[in-house]
Amino acid sequence: MGSVEREMKNMREYFRSGVTKEASWRESQLKGLRRFLMEKESDIFKALMQDLGKHGVEAFRDEIGTLVKTLNLAIKCLKDWMSSKNANLPALALLSSAEIVHEPLGLVLIISSWNFPFALSLEPLIGAIAAGNTAVLKPSELSASCSSLLASGIATYLDDKAIRVIEGGPEESEQLLNQKWDKIFFTGSARVGRIVMSAAATHLTPVVLELGGKCPAVVDSLSSSWDLEVIVKRIIVGKYGTCAGQACIAIDYVIVEKSYCSKLVELMKVWIKKMFGDYPKRSNTIARIVNKQQLVRLKKLLTGPKVKESVVYGGSVDEENLFIEPTILVDPPLDAAIMIDEVFGPILPIITVDKIEDSIEFISSRPKPLALYVFTKNQTLQKRMISETSSGSVTFNDAILQYAADSLPFGGVGASGFGMYHGKFSFDTFSHQKAIVRRSFLTDFWYRYPPWTPNKFQLL
Ligand code: NAD
Repeated sequence: MGSVEREMKNMREYFRSGVTKEASWRESQLKGLRRFLMEKESDIFKALMQDLGKHGVEAFRDEIGTLVKTLNLAIKCLKDWMSSKNANLPALALLSSAEIVHEPLGLVLIISSWNFPFALSLEPLIGAIAAGNTAVLKPSELSASCSSLLASGIATYLDDKAIRVIEGGPEESEQLLNQKWDKIFFTGSARVGRIVMSAAATHLTPVVLELGGKCPAVVDSLSSSWDLEVIVKRIIVGKYGTCAGQACIAIDYVIVEKSYCSKLVELMKVWIKKMFGDYPKRSNTIARIVNKQQLVRLKKLLTGPKVKESVVYGGSVDEENLFIEPTILVDPPLDAAIMIDEVFGPILPIITVDKIEDSIEFISSRPKPLALYVFTKNQTLQKRMISETSSGSVTFNDAILQYAADSLPFGGVGASGFGMYHGKFSFDTFSHQKAIVRRSFLTDFWYRYPPWTPNKFQLL
């Protein structure tokens, strides 16, 4: 038996001992996680700066702050989430009762991505712990400092008989995927999502796939100059100000009416300068590209027939410093890689249409995105966007905000994945909702038993 199998065997035995099912154990682990985030805050900032050049404010907003908020909610609501919920029964079961019990699944595997190394690892882990599971976490090898801090922090602050971090890349990940888990929660690319799903199929293991895709932002032209300024600021922060666009819910491209495009672009140029300065490369407010490979991939997206010519702002790439300037393109060819692949970087294509309503057909004829952003006050357009397009979420007049709401399910649909988490949804994702029926002996109806006779049709 290899070391992974041995560790898993011990963790399964620990789960069977019932320790992790106790509310007190779950609460102590959630509090331990919160202590880790608070006591190691400066180490977390340092690791995120090292791996991604992420500014502390951004790191707090997207990782520590949201995680502490989720932990506070989980600690506060734990007993309520765990409590069984009464359910109704048909009249036939008179004087009987039913309830739904939330049962932990057992031993779960969480594989995460590098762009929000703490949030994407710990947000699902909070759900796994709250639901009473044992868990193995495999962070991404590409954010190595964060992965190592997660491994040491979790070993120190949490019960290491129940929660383990296994570091490594595809090889270690594949080794883990060969094992039998009670659930696999995967955040990453569709390519690896397919590998995860086929490995899970061998053991009929349920999976959650949190994938990516191209998240559009539609900008309606019916905006006042004040509104347009707010829109521009929200677009910039939803693209360049969120891990330099290396986020699954970052705005991938914008759709705008032809006649309105130059107004939007000109104001974007002004605000990019206001937010990142005249020389963004010198700014510590915009994150760096995670590694050379990703940088080369992004650089390539700017090449190809008619793509370079469509760049209207930025475009410079500094390989040595893993930096790409905030870049805007207008109407690159729709068959170019930049309009087919997920951008996942600080490059923003803007696509123009004759009428803003044309954006509906544009979006619905492409793979379903994880997030759709629509900047409009037009109620009819809002209604049409909700009913005529499909996406993980729709946010009107802002971007990214939906991620921070514990009250909303976070997850994709179609090509952007399936399953959901955040807040109570995470608890549900890592629980089995077990149906319990308690039947009374006091009532018993003769017509529910054979032999079947025609008069029983009416009685049942
Ligand atoms: P990735 O799929 O390359 O890696 C994700 C994880 O899988 C990592 O832990 C990695 O070590 C592991 N892995 C890599 N190759 C593997 C293999 N062959 N077998 C098994 N495991 C393997 O993705 P990434 O580069 O980390 O992240 C980028 C993608 O993730 C983007 O598409 C992005 O949109 C998506 N993403 C989605 C969300 C979300 O919440 N929906 C969040 C962040 C990123």
